[in-house]
Amino acid sequence: MAKAKVKDITSSKASSKNKKNEKAEVDNIKKGLKSKKKEVDFDENIKVSIEKKLHALYSLQLIDSQIDKIRIIRGELPLEVQDLEDEIAGLGTRIENFKKENETLEKSIQEKNSSISNSKSLMEKYEDQRMNVRNNREYDSLTKEIEFQNLEIQLCEKRIKEYTISLDNKKIDVDSSQQLFDERKKDLEVKNSELKDITAETEKEEKTLEIKSEKNQKFIEERLLAAYKRIRINARNGLAVVLVERDACGGCFNKIPPQRHLDIRMHKKIIVCEYCGRILVDNGIKEYVDENFNI
Ligand SMILES: [Zn+2]
Repeated sequence: MAKAKVKDITSSKASSKNKKNEKAEVDNIKKGLKSKKKEVDFDENIKVSIEKKLHALYSLQLIDSQIDKIRIIRGELPLEVQDLEDEIAGLGTRIENFKKENETLEKSIQEKNSSISNSKSLMEKYEDQRMNVRNNREYDSLTKEIEFQNLEIQLCEKRIKEYTISLDNKKIDVDSSQQLFDERKKDLEVKNSELKDITAETEKEEKTLEIKSEKNQKFIEERLLAAYKRIRINARNGLAVVLVERDACGGCFNKIPPQRHLDIRMHKKIIVCEYCGRILVDNGIKEYVDENFNI
């Protein structure tokens, strides 16, 4: 009986020991589950926080690209105005030069005309003298003089004809240049007022976008933001964050290896293109930003 009691005790002891073990095991499993849950939570947390960063980076890129576009448009208009101003100045100089050339031509025509009247009066004088010559030699010499003056007159008339043609052509040039000059002046007026309007309009838009950009930057840690800005400066199109398109980097169009592509889709790390260094995002990030951010 006593033995049985002992046995009982031992068995009850054993069972209590077993129970203890069982409890410990359950606890362990629970603990394990908990730690596994913690791991999952931790993983999920990383994913969420990286996703948030990617959303912020992608939307920051969209905003900054809009600012870039505005600056390019506004940057081109002053250049167009400058081109017009240069053209107008060039046309002005051309017209001035034509006018000077015309003055010279008119002066030359006047000179030739006075040469002609000079020759004519000489001819008259020689003809008078020829009436009273004393010998043949004198007569011949005067006849030669008259012939010479006659040739002189013909030459002058020929020159006057040439100068007149040239003068007429120059006048046509002056007229067409003047017409172009007036047209360009009008264009310039239009462009200038356009520039004024666009500058006022875009400056307002740019300011709004800049505020948006700054607000967005607050969601991105300093180190990442610095990297973003650095990539943007170095990239010719100002793109630091690009979409993966057809398995390639949307910035440099180099192919992305499948493993890297998978990492990009997991949103657990910020992945950059191994060729151009741009931050890569997948369509999931784009769609989320498109739906939830007002850009
Ligand atoms: Zn790239």
